Amino acid sequence: MFSSSCKFVPDPAAPAPLLAVCRDAALGLCVRALHDCAPGSVIESFDGDIGPRVSQHSLQVRPGRHIAGTRHIGYLSHACDPNCRLDMTRFELVALRAIAAGELLSIDYAATEDRLYAQFACACGAPGCRRWITGRDEAISPVGARFLAAQGGAVAPV
Ligand SMILES: [Zn+2]
Repeated sequence: MFSSSCKFVPDPAAPAPLLAVCRDAALGLCVRALHDCAPGSVIESFDGDIGPRVSQHSLQVRPGRHIAGTRHIGYLSHACDPNCRLDMTRFELVALRAIAAGELLSIDYAATEDRLYAQFACACGAPGCRRWITGRDEAISPVGARFLAAQGGAVAPV
């Protein structure tokens, strides 16, 4: 089961939801599955406002275009070995493996973003964790370089 702090208010007009945005003490806002999801299944078809602006909860649709104001996907957590991916052609959130009800949903931010709103340290625990997360088309920031140096090693290539 997921945290009792999950504040999900059902919308009676909407089909049965598969996702809920939750507030986690360690993670902040995050998204959890409300039902089991099969590998390869579409968890959500999403929409939102597409424009040129990058924000903390926007996601890149294509170079120079970002979707914001989404119901769930703007709150997905990052993981270096995520359980979901975003299909930015079909606007679908897809399960990469079997996901159990209550599980935290994650994507690899570098899979969609050329540049992140803000680079950050990662401790997701994946064997291939990159430890400092950037967009796929940007250099590690000076803060990230100092962080990695303090950790005693270079980051693995994306
Ligand atoms: Zn990681």
